[in-house]
Amino acid sequence: MDREGIVLDPWGTSHVKDYRRLMEQFGIEPLEGELIERLPYKHRLVRRRIIFGHRDLEMILRAIEEGEEYAVMTGIKPSGEFHLGTKLTSEEFIYFLSLSPKARGFFAIADLEAYADNKIPLEESYRIALSNLMDMLALGLDPRRVYVYRQSQEMPVMQLAFIFSRSVTYNTLEAIYGPRPFGLYLSALVQAGDILNPQLPHHGGPKPTVVPVGADQDPHIRLTRDLARKYRGEFGFVPPAATYHKLLRDLTGQEKMSKRNPMGILYLTESLESARRKVMNAFTGGRATAEEQRRLGGEPEKCVIFVELLSTHFLEDDKQLEEWYWECKSGRMLCGECKARAWELIGAWLKRHQERRAKMRDLAERLLEEKTLS
Ligand code: SF4
Repeated sequence: MDREGIVLDPWGTSHVKDYRRLMEQFGIEPLEGELIERLPYKHRLVRRRIIFGHRDLEMILRAIEEGEEYAVMTGIKPSGEFHLGTKLTSEEFIYFLSLSPKARGFFAIADLEAYADNKIPLEESYRIALSNLMDMLALGLDPRRVYVYRQSQEMPVMQLAFIFSRSVTYNTLEAIYGPRPFGLYLSALVQAGDILNPQLPHHGGPKPTVVPVGADQDPHIRLTRDLARKYRGEFGFVPPAATYHKLLRDLTGQEKMSKRNPMGILYLTESLESARRKVMNAFTGGRATAEEQRRLGGEPEKCVIFVELLSTHFLEDDKQLEEWYWECKSGRMLCGECKARAWELIGAWLKRHQERRAKMRDLAERLLEEKTLS
């Protein structure tokens, strides 16, 4: 909350209507042109500009091109089952890992943050983390290329947080995050420790690191980049790069998912019947009457079915997506038929995913216990 204009709240609700303005305000670079061309493989999230911006991605592209090692860092707060938002971040993490055999993944389970923000006891967050990890593995995470840890068990990360606390004042944290309970300030320092953990000597020392995040997490990235510069002399840290994805609406069209509105959240673990009901009730860009929609066409760019479900998550083929767009826009397709078609895709995906994740329990348990499998 340190500048006038758009307010980014990593623990709450952020609204971003104008991403150009956001980028200007916080110094985020657009992900476009030559940078996209240099990516060895263009994920649908890149092709469709859902990942819209970056800081220092050039450094990661150079590492890919020159065959040098780099780290991909992410974390989840184990406060609930996987949903479309966590799926998005996980897919980006897996994507950046897939771009080079030299990439190494670091996956932090933010159980201390879950305790500070949501009062979730550590035993409970362990159970949730296990379930989340099953989803990550089912989404394609290669368990041999990732280091998984719980913040509460990772002494070097806590030591880093303590070291960082020497040079961060209350005023700095308040300027970045606004007035908060001290536990959240502490967990912000622990997160900075997470992000720089891959660069500690026992993980091979300083290296380019990329952190894929939602736009609302930028305050953590800015704090960590400042700390990396401050402690460069002591640790040799390279300020981490980041990529940013857009903040997507929930199924009811609200700006941010909230557990207070369960109809808005599609969990990857929920029953197909419950998921179907949510999809069929999702917010659309349809007109008031069928007659009006046939005459004027729908508004797919405002529609959760089109933007959040098909374009972001469930329709991989660009040509099919474009045809879908024009069927809506021209009024040839009405929302009832469209939702039924969308559900066929989504339901089939969910069923496959749930079958896959059910087989991942043992692997997820081993990974949580052993941190890394070779
Ligand atoms: S036809 Fe489909 S894409 Fe178009 S507004 Fe209705 S639900 Fe959305």
